[in-house]
Amino acid sequence: MPIQIHDTLAGTKRPFEPLEPGRVRMYVCGVTPYARSHIGHARCYTAYDIIYRYLRYAGFAVTYVRNFTDVEDKIIKRANERGMDTLALAQENIDTFYADMDALGIARPDHEPRVSTSIDDIIALVQRLEDKGLAYDVDGDVFYDVANFADYGKLSKRPLDQMQAGARVEVDPRKRNPMDFALWKSAKPGEPKWDSPWGEGRPGWHIECSAMSMAALGETFDLHGGGRDLIFPHHENEVAQSEGATGCTFARYWMHNGFITIDEEKMSKSLGNVFSVGDIAERYEPLVLRFFLATGSQYRNPINFSDAMLDEAAARLAYYYETLRKAAVFLAEAHAEHKGPLPGQAVIDGVEARFREAMDDDFNVPRAMDPVNEAFRTLNELISTRKKKKQAAAAAAARLLLDKIRAIDGVLNLFGEDPGGYLERHRQKAVIRRELSVQWIEQQISARIAARTARDWAEADRIRDEMEAAGVILMDHPGGTDWRVLDVPPGAGGEEAGEGEARST
Ligand SMILES: [Zn+2]
Repeated sequence: MPIQIHDTLAGTKRPFEPLEPGRVRMYVCGVTPYARSHIGHARCYTAYDIIYRYLRYAGFAVTYVRNFTDVEDKIIKRANERGMDTLALAQENIDTFYADMDALGIARPDHEPRVSTSIDDIIALVQRLEDKGLAYDVDGDVFYDVANFADYGKLSKRPLDQMQAGARVEVDPRKRNPMDFALWKSAKPGEPKWDSPWGEGRPGWHIECSAMSMAALGETFDLHGGGRDLIFPHHENEVAQSEGATGCTFARYWMHNGFITIDEEKMSKSLGNVFSVGDIAERYEPLVLRFFLATGSQYRNPINFSDAMLDEAAARLAYYYETLRKAAVFLAEAHAEHKGPLPGQAVIDGVEARFREAMDDDFNVPRAMDPVNEAFRTLNELISTRKKKKQAAAAAAARLLLDKIRAIDGVLNLFGEDPGGYLERHRQKAVIRRELSVQWIEQQISARIAARTARDWAEADRIRDEMEAAGVILMDHPGGTDWRVLDVPPGAGGEEAGEGEARST
């Protein structure tokens, strides 16, 4: 069974058959680097990162292209406010974008073209459209003539006459049709500009993605992705520009990821609920955000974001890492070779097939986590084997299961950190989230030890209770007292699922 992909143009899931067997060419619209990346960007690029990684895991040679819109109104405005060069401002934000995406484990695409270095391709495409009678020049501004492109509206399923009726009144009177859009804008003072057959100016927004994707991938390629908000007008206009110029199919499958809501509200600047990736990373390990975005919802569906959900994701990820940490300890102590039947063989044999089955169904990561969770549950059972004579078989099985988890993690990219280091950073972030301090925790532990030494059990218990009320759990070992912070605060209802599971095994 081939991979099934929901194609926005077809309006349904279709079997994925790339143009060239074994190869995938994919393009995803990138950012306009005028500010820090927010969690909407994180969702989009995490989704396509997993799709990219899965296609490679499935055996395809993938060429992934994602652009930077480094010439755009918002960049120009902000650069002028700060008295900066526009490209310098864009570069500053591209640097922070990379830092954010790297922290989220998002692989760099194979090509990352920028508008500022693709001007020749853009001009050539506008020229081609003008030669075909699909573009017209008014005083150095070049517009796309939508009425001459019969398929205009096919991606967003909006008939042109309806769009015209709904068009705002303040339409540029120089346009032949209210839906015509700018391919090239004549130079204005204080804006970056390049020479062109229509005079000095700069590209409109939509043309860049047509020019850059076709330059890197050819006139027809396999996958085009982006957020749902880009279907109209951006992707509709990309279809018109590309297919208008070439006369052949542009993207063979159109993929769109769903919106993110914050506490069930739309994320918007006016509501003041736009969180940057940097904001989140102050309070949570960035992998928690990746885990939440990747597994909280299938990529096409909306996802609701809240602190409570991130807390749960943090607890869950800590459970995986705790399991990996314990597995490493168990395997270091279990030396004996083993031949013969293995415990958990059915799980070992089935995990990748079940993972693939879910991923083949339009990259359904939430469902693909079922076999992963079963693998971790089984791993926990195996490494809890106490009977010495059963340990060799358990260790052999645990090694095989870890190999499977690592193979799957080539797609998920969640479990590759050193467990000890991850869990310590996780604990530090939990301290920050609960507005505690490590110093206070250590002072309390010392005071409790002093109380116990003085046989003041009431005081020792009082300190323990006070710490528990603050969300700090103490664990006494023969060698001393360790501590951890609850990911889900006390009284928030429902002890955290992840750690509860960790304890029950
Ligand atoms: Zn685009």
